[in-house]
Amino acid sequence: MTTAFIKPNTKAVQYGRVAGLSAIEPPVWLTLFSQTEPDSRVIDMEAEDLDPAGLLARLAPMGISRAVILATGSHPSAHVQQADAAQALKTFLGAALAIPVEVFDRLPFDPLATGTIDWDRLSVEKYRAHNWHAWGRNDHAYGATFASVSCPFGCDFCCVKDFYHSGYRQRDPALVAMDVRALAGRGITNIKMMDELFAVDNPGVHAVCDALAATGLGERLNIWAYARIDTVNPVLLAKLRAAGVRWLAYGIESGDERVRSAAVKGKFSNARVREVVAMTRDAGIHVLGNFMFGFWDDDRSSMEATLSLAGDLMCEYVNFYCVTVYPGSKLYADMKARGVDLPVSGEEYAQMSPRFKPVPTAHLSGEDVLRFRDAAFGRYFNDARYLAMMERVFGAGTAAAIRAMCAIDIRSRR
Ligand code: SF4
Repeated sequence: MTTAFIKPNTKAVQYGRVAGLSAIEPPVWLTLFSQTEPDSRVIDMEAEDLDPAGLLARLAPMGISRAVILATGSHPSAHVQQADAAQALKTFLGAALAIPVEVFDRLPFDPLATGTIDWDRLSVEKYRAHNWHAWGRNDHAYGATFASVSCPFGCDFCCVKDFYHSGYRQRDPALVAMDVRALAGRGITNIKMMDELFAVDNPGVHAVCDALAATGLGERLNIWAYARIDTVNPVLLAKLRAAGVRWLAYGIESGDERVRSAAVKGKFSNARVREVVAMTRDAGIHVLGNFMFGFWDDDRSSMEATLSLAGDLMCEYVNFYCVTVYPGSKLYADMKARGVDLPVSGEEYAQMSPRFKPVPTAHLSGEDVLRFRDAAFGRYFNDARYLAMMERVFGAGTAAAIRAMCAIDIRSRR
């Protein structure tokens, strides 16, 4: 009586023409979920690049009596994008195999009560780091672990608590260190710390940093994690660096302080953003800046201010997103109340999909926002000062890799 735990393959839908640059992340939640059942197998259709027919061929010799599909990636927003694919797969498998198939789009188990991640359930060699995460290194092998679930904050556009069915809770630091040791033992040192917000100055995070530093792997590790402008300080950054954290991703969101403070909990000024970016670099950690275009108060000049701040900060990498309104978030209820026509399908939620449906602001159409976002990407990554810095920091060939990334014409999808 074997249960197959299946991750759908939505790579092409979610990432379109840039699928080859995006990471292939190990399905940690699915793997831990499978560990709650004694006779179970994990099939990651994305990592194995399987279509439904390929999945059937893989399942045939296994004697599967039940299938479980977890419609999520490592980030909860992925469950919105994967919901359609999961339901379609459920219908397909139910008809083809006449077995019960269950779809979950929230975590139906407690990951903090499940021990370490059993990497032997996955083909770990199939996972690939983001292009930026592996700059300056010789390999793309990729792993992931986590030190907490949910988040201590509550931003309007965010749906993480809905996904975890839980407030912020922290994991035993010894388990985090064991996961990382197990990955390093398999030659995997590019690692994502999956926490919605890892870099918070609290005793639990310090304990995780201490446990990771005690592994002695610090200089080999290339960990990336999420931080906030208002949750870091020099002491914490030094501890993170000693623990092997090489990249921190900050949600800077907007360059217009009025727009940012209307949309994001935890107010911070542009001056503070500049200080924290400098402080992070001083600690020997690269900065990934996450910016969003299309907040309700955004107009063309506030979006130009966002792009201008990104250019001034010159983060080693930036993500430029359109604001996306996820079910379960306060923003979703607000936009519904404003009568905005919101995305429905997974494709409409996927930022790189030809069917992505950007939402309007009080001043701009959704299409205006999307056009600005796409143009901003080219303006940022083609900047000669940025390319020179990247060549200096990550070595020869990095600028060429970035130019090749920019040459992908994501706009031709429309
Ligand atoms: S800090 Fe990040 S994870 Fe936490 S609520 Fe805000 S957006 Fe969501």
